[in-house]
Amino acid sequence: AKKMGRNRFCWYHSDMEQQQLDKFNLMMRLRVAVKQQLFTVAYQPTYDLKTNQISGAEALLRWSDAELGVVPPDVFIPLAEETGLIQELGLFVLQKACAQVKLWQESGFLLGIAVNISAMQFKQGDLPAVVTQVLADTGLEAHWLELELTESVLIDDTALVKQQIDQLSALGVRFAIDDFGTGYSNLGYLSQFSLNSLKIDRSFVARIGHNAKDLALVNGIIQLATSLGLHTVAEGVEDTQSLVLLQQAGCSCAQGYLWSKAVSQEEFGSLLAP
Ligand code: C2E
Ligand code: CA
Ligand code: CA
Ligand code: CA
Repeated sequence: AKKMGRNRFCWYHSDMEQQQLDKFNLMMRLRVAVKQQLFTVAYQPTYDLKTNQISGAEALLRWSDAELGVVPPDVFIPLAEETGLIQELGLFVLQKACAQVKLWQESGFLLGIAVNISAMQFKQGDLPAVVTQVLADTGLEAHWLELELTESVLIDDTALVKQQIDQLSALGVRFAIDDFGTGYSNLGYLSQFSLNSLKIDRSFVARIGHNAKDLALVNGIIQLATSLGLHTVAEGVEDTQSLVLLQQAGCSCAQGYLWSKAVSQEEFGSLLAP
């Protein structure tokens, strides 16, 4: 502490101490937020590039905190993983998203739902049981649910992960590789696991209209996926030029700000029935 005037103290910390305090504070708030269920689920539409119709939605967690304001998922998801709170949060998204898509289906809109799954959620080995329970509770048929995994999940702890993926795919649950191309150069997992889609990371998609090499890369990924019998979903499509290039490349689906950001369930309802 630094003395300022008579009896006023100005506490200061080194950057690292400050960062640890921030992180500690954030973890405390995260615990409270999970207890008080301060989370919501936002939905971003995915479009079928042949029909230009909504083919599904990706469920994305949102945390709007009374003290901290909106905390982005890139900040709180890693913390939730570190503290184990992701188990509870992950179950919340799964339940909420499956129940919501079932409601949309009952109003006549046939669409699927994609839910992000963290590596941590495979650690206890009970993901098949958890998902089975959610599907039973919500009445959603398994093939409408797609679980999005990053490449790292398929690289670490392969035996336990593979066993759970096999069990879930036997039920009809689908799997997508998220952020494809950003993780690993070893692609062996593509043939080892039962997968349905590759999601092409937006870092490649963003520049395909301006950079010939990125376009070549995206074309290559789509060809690879197609020859493996996988669907392709382009992430982060922001302009029509990229859309046209993706259509020419034979990409199956896309999502991005060109159509819509992730929105509340009410707003998504009006995207379905404009
Ligand atoms: P992600 O799974 O790769 O999700 C896509 C992110 O890109 C979302 O950010 C989405 O809002 C954003 N996005 C979509 N279209 C565009 C676009 O056209 N341009 C740009 N610039 N961005 C776009 P968001 O919602 O902030 O989520 C960030 C990450 O947090 C997600 O990346 C995912 O890894 C993680 N996350 C979010 N919700 C969950 C969850 O329920 N469980 C887990 N395990 N992770 C989650
Ligand atoms: Ca995702
Ligand atoms: Ca992604
Ligand atoms: Ca991402």
